[in-house]
Amino acid sequence: MRCLACTFRPFGGLLLALAAAACQMTPPANVSFNTYRVSGDSISSLNQQLALHGPTIPGQGKALAAADISFDPTVLLESGGYGCRVARVDFQVNAEVTLPEWLQKDRASPELAALWDAFSEEALEHELVHVRIAEEHAVKMERTIRRLADPDCSKLEAQIREVIDRVAQEHAEAQDKFDEREEARYASINRRRSRGSDHWP
Ligand SMILES: [Zn+2]
Repeated sequence: MRCLACTFRPFGGLLLALAAAACQMTPPANVSFNTYRVSGDSISSLNQQLALHGPTIPGQGKALAAADISFDPTVLLESGGYGCRVARVDFQVNAEVTLPEWLQKDRASPELAALWDAFSEEALEHELVHVRIAEEHAVKMERTIRRLADPDCSKLEAQIREVIDRVAQEHAEAQDKFDEREEARYASINRRRSRGSDHWP
């Protein structure tokens, strides 16, 4: 299942705390990173580059950063005198996080470099929360499916599909809700900053 690509909008103030892994049953997500390069010597030139070179989210358009998340499910059934039950279930989360890399940062003013660092850090934290949301739903799928059993294996398979469909839908909604909350937070922060010092973007 390929579930998510997300938009990230700058620029928030607080970093998001990542919850510690709540469950050891699921291995943590396989997270890979790639970057796209931007050039510039001012906020406005960098913003142009971010808008031009940022990842494209299908159905949504351009973003500044993205997390492409997929689940790799393994479900093994076994049958015996008891009927059919789940022998093994595992939903490995794979995530590819795309972030911007500013080529001239080393030559930039300390003020602009600091703004960029804060922006980059928040973009990373934001995408990692998306990964965490996926991990939580992988655990939920595993826990729910592990408890299932049925005298008939084909009926058990149907129950498992139903759980996967339902939790996948919940997962998509949780990801959208997180982005909605974040967008509202960024809008509020930017309104407060709009009369003051330099800000990103
Ligand atoms: Zn997002």
